[in-house]
Order: sequence, then structure tokens, then C-alpha cells
Amino acid sequence: MNLPRPLSHSSISMYGECPLKYKLKYVDGIPEKPKHFFSFGQSVHKALEFFYKVEALPAPSLEELLKNYRENWVTLGYRDQAQEAEYFQQGKDILAGYHRRHAAAFRIPYSVEYDFQFTVDGVPVTGKVDRIDRQEDGRFCVVDYKTGKALTAGRVAQDAQLTMYQLACESLLGAEVARLTFYHLPTHHEHSVGRRSQEQLEELRARIKRTAEAIIAERFEAKPSENSCRWCDFKAHCPVFSSAPAPVPAADELAALIDKFGELTARRAELDGETAGVKAALLDILRRKGYVRAFGARFEVQRCGAEKFEFSEANKKKVLHLIKAAGLYESVLAPSAPLIQKLLADPGADAELRAALRALGVPVEASDLKVTPL
Ligand code: SF4
Repeated sequence: MNLPRPLSHSSISMYGECPLKYKLKYVDGIPEKPKHFFSFGQSVHKALEFFYKVEALPAPSLEELLKNYRENWVTLGYRDQAQEAEYFQQGKDILAGYHRRHAAAFRIPYSVEYDFQFTVDGVPVTGKVDRIDRQEDGRFCVVDYKTGKALTAGRVAQDAQLTMYQLACESLLGAEVARLTFYHLPTHHEHSVGRRSQEQLEELRARIKRTAEAIIAERFEAKPSENSCRWCDFKAHCPVFSSAPAPVPAADELAALIDKFGELTARRAELDGETAGVKAALLDILRRKGYVRAFGARFEVQRCGAEKFEFSEANKKKVLHLIKAAGLYESVLAPSAPLIQKLLADPGADAELRAALRALGVPVEASDLKVTPL
């Protein structure tokens, strides 16, 4: 087969992550679901494109910038209105901070949202650079905005996206790239490094060639991993997640599986305890600082879920009293599924009532496993 479309940084990464995922998206053309984090990134990128795509000074005002942001807000993929409103506000804060830092020393860039197409050893490659600035010595500075999790110095020094941009700019624009930057918008941290080495450029060229050859040879094996499968929309088309029955294991395989399950369960219990402690400490800090979202070096956290209340035994009576007085007793204390399960399992409950309730239900086989160390 031929390449279904020119390679890009993201399609090369997707092939490396899971060749089957690449096939389902780019060869079979199965659409992915919209994701709120892509919509958010797109909205902020569009606003910054507007900010820099001017013909003459001065820079657009903050009001003009926010107006453009509002008008081009991408609404797809958000869980609900509350989540969308929270992200919209975060984008406004980012842009206000960006304007405060960069409007005064504003310079018109060499190029904004630079679309490129070129070939690497005969392989067509495409992409888009957020911004290219030109230094006084004529060399370029390439800038890519990031709206997701915080970046590490190691990533900036190695990331293949920036290497690809250097390769494209130097092949097409006839001048050297001096600096490569990831601008992390939530923290306004500019991570800049010098130009990539010849060795890094050659490594990328070889990767582009290898990926194209593998696609043309139709090597599309599934490569499951926690990171790539978690966000994958193609599980319904993937044999790793299909419901085909697995072959029955031999006795020794069964014993090995039991022991592995036991070990993993014990480790999980240990990790659960540790995780709960860290989570409580984090929630306490976020609550006290009034933050909804915060970043580490490799992860971000977000407070979510509804607030819950607990009542002391003494106050429970007062709660009941208030509910009865408000005429809400019946609706608040209506039978719930967990209460009925409890009643059915209670040998002391009225036997006739239990039999009548059992006759109304369908028993579902218990699917959990209790594991005990030997
Ligand atoms: S579910 Fe996992 S293994 Fe299957 S296609 Fe998606 S990423 Fe690949």
C-alpha cells in the first residue's frame, strides 16, 4: 500500500505508540471522539494566532484578544457546562497573563501557524509551527505553545516535535534555527534550548523512513499499554479488548495466575493506603489555596465530584426532623438499591417479604474475588 497521507509528528508518534491505532485512524478513517483538552488547546492557540497575526504595531488590546477568544471558543468534548465554564475561565486567565507579559515588547513574528509540507528521503511530511521569530542575525526561533501538563527539561531537550520543526524550517526557509521553545501557557514558563544536533536530526530522518516503510508494509500490530489504551477510542475495533473467549489455561498456568493475582492484590492494598494519604494531603492544600487544577512535573490534578456532608448521630435526628417538617420524608428516604440488597441478605428480616422480593429480581453472579495469602 501507499502512505494514506503525509506523515506528521502526531501520526508518527501514534504509529510508535500503537500501530493498530494508527491504522484504525488514518487507514480505515474511523473518527475519534472529541476531547475537551484538544478543544481547549485549539481555542487558546486560535486566540494567540489572532494576537500575532497583525500587519503593523501595536499588538491587539486585551479586550480584542478576549473577544476573539470568546468568538472562536471550541465547545466540543466537555463533560458538562460546569467543566466547560471552568476551562473557559482558565483560558481567559492564561490570555490575560500572556498579554500582560508580552504586549509591551510585542514584535511581529516572521510567521504564525506556519504550514509546512516537504519530503524526507522521499517520504512526504507535513505539520504546522505555532510561531517562528527571526533574530537579528537572521536565524530563526521556533515556538510551540503547550496547554497541558507541565514540561520537563529532559523532554524539551529530546522532543521529536521540535526536532521535526527545525528540520522543516531549515529545509524550506533557507536559514538556520537557533532556538527551540516550548511555551507552557498555564505557568507562562518558556522552556528554550539551542538547535538540535546533526545526530538528532539524522535520528528523526531514520524514524520517519522506518515508520513509512512499516506502514507501506502494512505492519499494524496492536501494542497495548496503559497510557495509549486509556484514551483510545478504538477499543471496539481492537482484538485486545474483544470479548472472544481466551483459551483455557493449563493447571500450572492457573496456579501462576492465582499467585500473581494474590501478589498484585497485596501490592494494590499497600498502594491504595499510600495513595489515600497523598490524595488527602493534596485535597487539603488545593482546598486551602482555592485551586481547582494544579500541575506537577509529569501530572496534573483536578478537584472534581460533588461535596458530601457527614452528620453526627446527634445531628441525624435533627436532620430527620427538618426533612419531615419540610414534607420531604417520603422522597428523601425512598427505598434505594443498596438498602434492598441489605434487606435481602439479612437472615433476620421477614422471610415472606424476602421471598417476594427475590421473586421480583434476577440474581447476578458475584464477579469479585477474595484473595488471601497462603
Ligand atoms: S485499545 Fe490499545 S491496543 Fe487497541 S488499538 Fe487502542 S491503543 Fe492499540
